[in-house]
Amino acid sequence: MRAVQLVQVGKPLEDAEVALPKIGSSEVLVRVAACGICHSDAHYRGGISAIDRLPLILGHEVAGLVETVGEEVAHVSPNDRVYVHYLVSCGRCDFCLRGHEQFCVKGQMIGKHRDGGYAEFIKVPGRNVFLLPDEIPFEHGAIMMCSSATALHALNKARVQSGDSVAIFGFGGLGFSAFQLARAFGCREVYVVDINPAKLASIAEAGGIAIAGDPVQQIREATGGKGVDVSIELVGSAITMEQAVRCLGIFGRAALVGLTAESMSVLPYTEIINKEAEIIGVSDHLAAELPALMQFACSGALRFPQDTLRSVDLDAVQINAALDAVENSTDHIRTVIVPRV
Ligand SMILES: [Zn+2]
Ligand SMILES: [Zn+2]
Repeated sequence: MRAVQLVQVGKPLEDAEVALPKIGSSEVLVRVAACGICHSDAHYRGGISAIDRLPLILGHEVAGLVETVGEEVAHVSPNDRVYVHYLVSCGRCDFCLRGHEQFCVKGQMIGKHRDGGYAEFIKVPGRNVFLLPDEIPFEHGAIMMCSSATALHALNKARVQSGDSVAIFGFGGLGFSAFQLARAFGCREVYVVDINPAKLASIAEAGGIAIAGDPVQQIREATGGKGVDVSIELVGSAITMEQAVRCLGIFGRAALVGLTAESMSVLPYTEIINKEAEIIGVSDHLAAELPALMQFACSGALRFPQDTLRSVDLDAVQINAALDAVENSTDHIRTVIVPRV
């Protein structure tokens, strides 16, 4: 089959002809119909995030058609439309048994620890494959597997309820989904903090409350001094993390999603204890959250406008160019590999 591989870290990906994966009795072979090109893929290529082995087929945002199934797989059949949960877990360790498979002691991410979806086919355990509703295009199914799913996990971890006021820090891919999902959860007051003027304009257009300048002061004023019920930090900087905590009201929950190596400081009494506020870490998402995510997409609550999607072929030159663009982009445009048949 055709595949595009990372052969050497720091070098462009390369076209390759590789053997079709052989599936075991509990596995499924999926014909890739769409695979999202993600910012983390650029990090793997650039050596910013470590991978396990070379050569490696990248790609963890996958949707496609079931090609063949192992004899133990009963919930999908050949030609079913499916989406693929990107974390392969053991199903037997303490974390898996308690439904927290993102901490599986043997967890493997597709496109990082094992071959991913920059290929004509991908082999995954049957447990990682779910039926994709007919009304959801493959491209949308694929790109929902990463940032949208993690945005939903952040809202779930922060226990967002209808009527909560929410502040979202960062209006990139995660923020775009988090904003739409917060609205779908019934949050009418959604503040979005960003510094990019074009993004600030699009927030207002989408029905959000754009915040530029000092977010803590502005959110405090806008909420009549109360602060917000929930903040979601997606930027990954100590400054915005501190702001996400300081803009909370009584019983406020700050969900931290963005990654940073910096340390943050908060005033324990005024910012946490006196408000019974909570700071919540958010890591990845769970397979069990994906069907709900699909329902938000089916109902139109979570949308990916056509002008935010671009497709390329399964071709190293086009994919490397898309990865270059991802490294420098600040927009919402997502590129999806759609292998020509
Ligand atoms: Zn991703
Ligand atoms: Zn496990």
